[in-house]
Amino acid sequence: MNKRVAIYAGSFDPFTNGHHEIVVRGLELFDELVILVAVSNSKKALFSLSERVDMIREHYKNETRIKVDSSEGLLVDYATKHRIGFILRGLRPTGDFDYEFHMASMNNELQPQVDTVFLMTHKDYSCVSSSAIREILACGGDVSKFVPTVIYSHLKKRG
Ligand code: ADP
Repeated sequence: MNKRVAIYAGSFDPFTNGHHEIVVRGLELFDELVILVAVSNSKKALFSLSERVDMIREHYKNETRIKVDSSEGLLVDYATKHRIGFILRGLRPTGDFDYEFHMASMNNELQPQVDTVFLMTHKDYSCVSSSAIREILACGGDVSKFVPTVIYSHLKKRG
């Protein structure tokens, strides 16, 4: 039987416990996940593309069903090239829906073979976002409870 593979894409600057929770639940639905790190458009980017890829790889180093890659192109082109049938997305109650609906509809227009699957955020992580973490860090706050340990240790090194 063909493996069920999904892409979980984002800028992940930084990768949070909210992202991690979607990945853990995604692994219950799919045989494999590709965490695809995209270029960050934020002017206040914390980490480069390759740094983000390396940190997420380190975090999942013992998880054989996860591959971490990066892409600067269209998500559906990556999916088509690698014969991946699904895009996994997380939905928070704070305004994600309109954007996600638009993205999923556009991706479906571009490549109808690739379907988007949404998982609703766990209530504990609904307020967690990479941009909020960047803001807290900029003000010298503690983000240790919002990010995986590996990511936190890199944030600390960054100072
Ligand atoms: P981008 O902002 O570049 O789309 P993010 O890294 O913020 O990427 O998010 C990637 C994916 O993870 C998106 O589907 C987003 O909705 C989802 N996501 C982000 N934070 C959370 C969270 N706290 N809980 C659930 N899903 C989340």
